[in-house]
Parts: sequence; structure tokens; C-alpha cells
Amino acid sequence: MSQSKKRKVDLECRIFNEAWTVKYLFTNINKKAICLVCQETIAVFKEYNLNRHFTTKHPKYASHSLKELQTVAENLAKNLNKQQNIFTKQSNIEKSTTKASYVVAHKIAKFCKPFSEAEFVKQCMVQVSEICCPEKKHIFENVSLSRRTIVRRIENISGNLLHQLRTKIADFTYCSLALDESCDITDTSQLLIFIRGINKKCEISEDLLSVHPMKDTTTGEDFFLAVEECLVKVSLTWNKIVSVTTDGCPSLTGKNVGLLKRIRDKVKELQTEHDILFFAALFIKKCYAEKF
Ligand SMILES: [Zn+2]
Repeated sequence: MSQSKKRKVDLECRIFNEAWTVKYLFTNINKKAICLVCQETIAVFKEYNLNRHFTTKHPKYASHSLKELQTVAENLAKNLNKQQNIFTKQSNIEKSTTKASYVVAHKIAKFCKPFSEAEFVKQCMVQVSEICCPEKKHIFENVSLSRRTIVRRIENISGNLLHQLRTKIADFTYCSLALDESCDITDTSQLLIFIRGINKKCEISEDLLSVHPMKDTTTGEDFFLAVEECLVKVSLTWNKIVSVTTDGCPSLTGKNVGLLKRIRDKVKELQTEHDILFFAALFIKKCYAEKF
């Protein structure tokens, strides 16, 4: 196609002429010409294309006068508008049922409930809606709370939280870690890692970085590997860490094989700009109390 011809087509295609609504029963929605009669879309705003569609597909309107066509166009436009409102309403309902499903999944995870309890929650919701707002019962029935959905939702929430944490940590100029080892109700040793960091805007934030279950042994080396794994997971490098605080347990603070010794060796090996300070303080107990 020659350059001038191409430019001519481009110019012709740009603007929807309002007169086409009455003349060919077309309307302009989201920069697309939509036939009011059959809702077919014509992407190119070209009078020839609209005319061809009108005369070949809707010949019964060809004999109508412009005045008659105007009435037809107004009625069809009203119907189309109604349909679109229904679609918008439908999509809003879908959004709210998905959100509700996430809210329940979040509660299930937060309160350590079995995933299958969401199905029981749904039964309750549907029966309550039957009594309080029967006209909206179908919305509650559409909230997806099956066990599989809850698993998927919790995985998504967890992935999102990890992403937020990574973004926050990437902004840290410096940070410090606080470590605590304690046993859960099943007598499994858990290493809790908290992080406190500061960014370029001098904003300080503190988060629970990880709860790492320690299987088999709980030596200083095991703790070190757990911390290192956690740092890799959130893309945090040793040179950003300025201090490590522990609760004074021998596996953590041992001079020869403890975690702190391993960290000291690692920092030396990497030749970071600064040394890491070590504290055995009580504030870790405070962190623990605040988070749980
Ligand atoms: Zn049509």
C-alpha cells in the first residue's frame, strides 16, 4: 500500500461519526463501532464498512425513513445500555464473592483452622442469608470455599506477603536480625527470625521474616544454614546486616560452633564493609510477645 493511500485510510478510521447511529444503527463503545441490532463489532471506523453491514445484515431497516430509524436507534441503545449494566453488576458480584473467599481463607490461616472448615462456614453463611436476606442468597452460594480453593487462596496470600516483604527488604539500606529458638506444641524446635530495617527515607520497619522448623539436630551449623536459606528466600545479602540479636541459648551464641561464630566466619569470608554486632538481649521476647 502506498504511503499516501495508507495515510488516507488512517484518517478515515479515526473518528466515529455520530450521524452513523441513526443512519446505520451503530454506536461507539470503547473506540469500537458496535451494531445496535446484532451487537457485532466493527473495529475500523469506516462508513463503507458500516453501510455494508447495515444493508447486508439488516435489510429490513433499509426502507425506514431517518425519523423511523432514529426511534429504532434510541430503543436499541436503551436495551444495549440495560444489558451492559447487567454485565457490570455481574462482574461486581464476581469480584465481591472472590474477595469474600480470600477474607475467609485469610481467617482460616490466621487462626490455624483446618481448610475444610471453610465449607462449614459457607453452609452457615447460606443459611443465615436465607433468613436475613433471601433475595441475596445466590450471592452467598457463589462464594467459593471448597478445600482446594482455600489452599489456593492461602498460597496466593502467602506469595503476596513474601513479595511485599522482598520489596520492602530491597529498599533497606541496613537491617538487623533477631533470632529465637523455641519448641512448639508438637515439641518441634522452631527458629524465629525477625528483621528490623531502615530505608533511604529513614523509615524503620520490623517484620517476622521466617519461622523455620528445625528437624533432627539443632546445632549452630543447622541454625546458620536455616538463616542463610531464609536470607536467600528474601534476597537479602549479608552486607546489609549490621547486627544480630539472640536470646543467649548456647547453640546460638557458642564461641566455637555456635551460630554467631558461623556468621562471624561468613562475614570475614565475604569481606563485607563492616563487622556484624552481636547482642544477647531481652527485646526479642518483646518482639515475640507482640507478634503472637
Ligand atoms: Zn448488525
